[in-house]
Amino acid sequence: MSDHIIRALAPGIRVVAAVTTELVDEARTRHSCSPVATAALGRTMTAALLLAETIKGDECLTIRVAGNGPLGDVVADTPLRHGVRGYVHHPQVDLPATEQGKLAVGEAVGSGMLHVTRFSPQRETFTGTVKLISGEIAEDVTRYLLESEQTPSTVGLGVLVDPDGSVAGAAGFLVQAMPDVTEEVLDAIEKNLSLVSSPSHLAQEGLSAAEIVQLLLVGIDSVSLFEPEPIQFQCTCNREKVGAILTGLGAAELAAMEQEGQAEIHCNFCNEAYRFEREELQALQGNA
Ligand code: ZN
Repeated sequence: MSDHIIRALAPGIRVVAAVTTELVDEARTRHSCSPVATAALGRTMTAALLLAETIKGDECLTIRVAGNGPLGDVVADTPLRHGVRGYVHHPQVDLPATEQGKLAVGEAVGSGMLHVTRFSPQRETFTGTVKLISGEIAEDVTRYLLESEQTPSTVGLGVLVDPDGSVAGAAGFLVQAMPDVTEEVLDAIEKNLSLVSSPSHLAQEGLSAAEIVQLLLVGIDSVSLFEPEPIQFQCTCNREKVGAILTGLGAAELAAMEQEGQAEIHCNFCNEAYRFEREELQALQGNA
């Protein structure tokens, strides 16, 4: 099943769920991520897609998990609706599994801060920052939503990595309570949350995002489920933008690159390589 995201509304409740197996695997391949880096990046990218679904169509957001662990920063960004990109500073770092046999994401991220920046064409850019609780991402994003956006939420995120390093399943969900939610609905959600397996296992078993939503909303009436939308790994870099960045370095820097014969620039977000030959570097100097 291809990656997709879905929204649902129930009385006093908003739910978003996403299956992200393919896009997390694409990020892993692009950045040559270790299993623990794949999990940290995949959870963060999935969280970015879920949060982006709760904001207006023309807004976008960036999540930066800035921990002091060996992975360094983990960044996910939604430059376009239903598209996400991301990177980890040290994607090849790997750590032994925890005693429970889980990927040691919290240890690899370490302690530090979670920053969520929202970009809107109409409003000023807004960044909310909270302290990381565990570095496991889901509970850190939950804290951000409560403290910075005053929305009580439950976030579930999971990435299951096969022994060969590829992604066997990745998914996430977000349940948000509105001020008018009843105790009855909250009790039903709490019970459902205690029964569902981890999102990564649900994705591995082949459940759709709609089926994940249905598991979360068992026993609740008047559920409206929207149409699922495709989501993907998507970067907005191109040769012109990279050329403009090179021009911005100035004529002296460009001349030094020209001396070397060529320059290869990698996009941070997608790791695409852009190679500039001597003549192109020369032409860029004319604009610098
Ligand atoms: Zn790119």
